[in-house]
Amino acid sequence: MYDYLIVGAGLFGAVFAYEAKQRGKRCLVIDKRDHIGGNVYTEEMEGINVHKYGAHIFHTNNKKIWDYVNRFADFNRYTNSPLANYQGEIYNLPFNMNTFQKLWGVVKPDEAKQIIENQKKAAGVTEPRNLEEQAISLVGTDIYEKLIKGYTEKQWGRSAKDLPSFIINRLPVRFTYDNNYFNDRYQGIPIGGYHAIIQNMLDGIDVRLNIDFFEDREQLTTSAKKVVFTGMIDQYYEFKYGVLEYRSLKFETKVMDTDNYQGNAVVNFTDAKTPYTRIIEHKHFEFGTQTKTVVTEEYPMEWKPGLEPYYPINDDKNNQIIKKYKELADKESNVIFGGRLASYKYYDMHQVIGEALTTVQNEFRS
Ligand code: FAD
Ligand code: UDP
Repeated sequence: MYDYLIVGAGLFGAVFAYEAKQRGKRCLVIDKRDHIGGNVYTEEMEGINVHKYGAHIFHTNNKKIWDYVNRFADFNRYTNSPLANYQGEIYNLPFNMNTFQKLWGVVKPDEAKQIIENQKKAAGVTEPRNLEEQAISLVGTDIYEKLIKGYTEKQWGRSAKDLPSFIINRLPVRFTYDNNYFNDRYQGIPIGGYHAIIQNMLDGIDVRLNIDFFEDREQLTTSAKKVVFTGMIDQYYEFKYGVLEYRSLKFETKVMDTDNYQGNAVVNFTDAKTPYTRIIEHKHFEFGTQTKTVVTEEYPMEWKPGLEPYYPINDDKNNQIIKKYKELADKESNVIFGGRLASYKYYDMHQVIGEALTTVQNEFRS
C-alpha cells in the first residue's frame, strides 16, 4: 500500500513525489509515456540534448524556486533571445529598440513611442478587449501585422480578435536595446538536460511507465491512500461538463550535416503562410560545438483525443467549463489535482514548481 499514487511523471508529479519521500511517505509514480519528465523531457541525439516537446527555457523571479531547481542540476548562462523571420526579414524579439530600429529606422526611444502612439490612435484602440487590440495598443499596427498576427493565428487556430489579451502580455515590450525574452532575474538551461533534474527528483521512488491511469483506474486508486492527479481534469470526471479544448503540436525533428543551421536556438516564423511557428536548433541552448546539428520544426494544430494536449485555451467558453470541474475537485478529500493539465492553466515551469511546493505545504501542514 502506497501513501500516494502520483499520476504523471512531469514536473508537478516529480516535485510532489520528491517532497513526499523526504517526509517519509511511500509514492508510486505512473506515466502513460515511456519516459519520465512530461513535457520538459530532453533526449540525447548526436550528443545534443533535444527538447522533445518544444523549447524549454527556465526563468523565474523567485529566488526560492531558483535555489530549489539548482539543487537538482547546474544551470548554464543561456539567455533566450529569439529572432523573428518575417518573409526573410529578421527582427529581434521581444519587441525592443532593436526591433523598432530595424522596422522604422528610429534610434531614440521617444521616436519609437511616438510611432506606436500614432498607429494606436489611427487604429482607434482605446480600451483593448482582445489580443489584437492589446497588441496594437502595446506596439502599433506594423508590428502587429508583421510579427504578431500571423504567428498568433497559426499558434491558436483562431482570429486574434477571439483570443484573450493575457497571452500577448507574456512578452515584454521595452524601449531599451535589450533582446532578453524574459524580464526575470534568473534564467538558464540545466546542464545535461531537463531529464537529469527529473531523474534526481525521482531517485529511489517507484516509477512505472507505459501505464495509463484510465485503463486500470480502480485497481490503481486502491493501491494508495491518496491520488495526486496531473492529467486532464475533464477526463478524470469523464467529461461530464464537456471537453476542455487545447492546442496540440507536431514536432518534426531532423539531424543536419552542418555544425550551425540558423545561428540561434529559436527562430519564429511570423508570417501566416509558413506552416510551422518556429524552428529550434537545440545545440545553441548549451553552446554546443558538435559537428552536426539537430533542428525541430513546430507545427501547431487543433487538439483531438489521441493527440497530446499542450496549450489550454483559456477563453470564456473553456473557463466556464473548468470552473465547474474545479468545484468538483475542491470537494475531493483523497485526490489532489495539480500541474498544467489538471489546473488547465498556461503555466511555465517555475509556476508549476511553485504550485507543487504550495500543494506540498498544504498537504503536510500538520
Ligand atoms: P506535464 O509535463 O504535461 O506532465 C504531465 C504528465 O502526466 C505527462 O508526462 C503525461 O504523460 C502524464 N499523464 C497525463 N495523463 C495521464 C494518464 N491518464 N495516465 C498516466 N499518465 C498521464 N515553460 C517554461 O518555463 N519555459 C519554457 O520555455 C516553456 N516552453 C514550453 C514550450 C512548449 C511547446 C510547451 C507545450 C510548454 C512549455 N513550457 C515552458 C511549459 C512547461 O512545459 C510546463 O509548465 C511543465 O512541463 C508542466 O509540467 P506538468 O507536470 O504540469 O505537466
Ligand atoms: N507571439 C507572437 N509572435 C512571436 C512570439 C509570440 O505573436 O514571435 C505571441 C503569440 O500569440 C504567442 C504569445 O505571444 O502565443 C506568447 O508567446 P510565447 O513565446 O510566450 O509562447 P510559448 O513559448 O508559450 O509558446
